[in-house]
Amino acid sequence: MKPYPIHCVSIVIPVYNEQESLPELLRRTTAACKQLAYEYEIILVDDGSRDKSAQLLEDAAEDDSNVVAVILNRNYGQHAAIMAGFEQCRGDVVITLDADLQNPPEEIPRLVEQAALGYDVVATVRNNRQDSAFRRWPSRLINLAVQRSTGVAMTDYGCMLRAYRRTIVDAMLACRERSTFIPILANGFARHTTEILVHHAEREHGESKYSAMRLISLMFDLLTCMTTTPLRLLSIVGFGLAGLGVLFAFALIVLRLAFGAQWAGDGMFVLFAVLFVFTGGQFIGMGLLGEYLGRMYSDVRARPRFFIEKVLRNQPAAPAPVVVVDGLVSSRTTTTSPSDQVAS
Ligand code: UDP
Ligand code: MG
Repeated sequence: MKPYPIHCVSIVIPVYNEQESLPELLRRTTAACKQLAYEYEIILVDDGSRDKSAQLLEDAAEDDSNVVAVILNRNYGQHAAIMAGFEQCRGDVVITLDADLQNPPEEIPRLVEQAALGYDVVATVRNNRQDSAFRRWPSRLINLAVQRSTGVAMTDYGCMLRAYRRTIVDAMLACRERSTFIPILANGFARHTTEILVHHAEREHGESKYSAMRLISLMFDLLTCMTTTPLRLLSIVGFGLAGLGVLFAFALIVLRLAFGAQWAGDGMFVLFAVLFVFTGGQFIGMGLLGEYLGRMYSDVRARPRFFIEKVLRNQPAAPAPVVVVDGLVSSRTTTTSPSDQVAS
């Protein structure tokens, strides 16, 4: 892993009805950014707030040239808002942060420090997480599922205080899908990732913007963002059921031969065996439909099939000049410097 040269750091913050936290957020984020040895910009995305947030953002952008206000026309959701911020940012390292000050902006320099070491994604783990059990348990389940299915072991996917390298942000912007879950999408493109422990504070103003319904929707976004396995599960269940049905039928035949026709309630159990096989068949059929649907889904999403981080190429050898020495024809060889870097 090579150290990563940084010139500019972007902070992207989605804002939805956060007028009470905004003044303190701006003050603390600016203070944290001033400690950096790099240029910085703070991009605040107003996600269709119904309070005075948008106005506050516009004022902040007018007062401070490091602040950029992006105003969306309506509420699109936290992850869409962050994507809108990504589109406007120009930093070599991009940090996402919540506006409610649950993630302390004072952690920004530590994240940048890790990114400068060469990590593509710097994730965080919430030290003594300050949320209700109702929020903690689903998160724990999600973390487990993601670890199983993506193979990237990260402890805390719910914490949005994260740093992404420019190439990862570009890769995410190239994904045109509508519903997405940024931390997982980023992991799909990252090579080196790390996690650091950060503080987590209680929400001081207002309520969480996620109702039970929105949380369920977020979980489905997360699931569909990483895998189409649930569709395949239908086939697997189908094969299991049909297999059980066949075994059951086989056992019934053996028992019928051993104990006679009166046994087994005049063939009622046979009906069960047949039912199992047919139900299994239906599931297999649905699973097959799911396989087509899954492929259509990934085609419609049109994620780039690959994303080139950089291209390294030796300069093509210049044609050797022909030199005539005493009637002899010789050619001078030229050497090329290795690994001239051409960023993609
Ligand atoms: N947010 C947003 N759009 C939404 C919901 C939330 O931009 O539709 C922002 C919100 O302003 C906050 C961040 O996303 O900055 C996280 O939201 P919240 O604190 O409500 O989530 P929680 O901490 O409860 O997971
Ligand atoms: Mg919060």
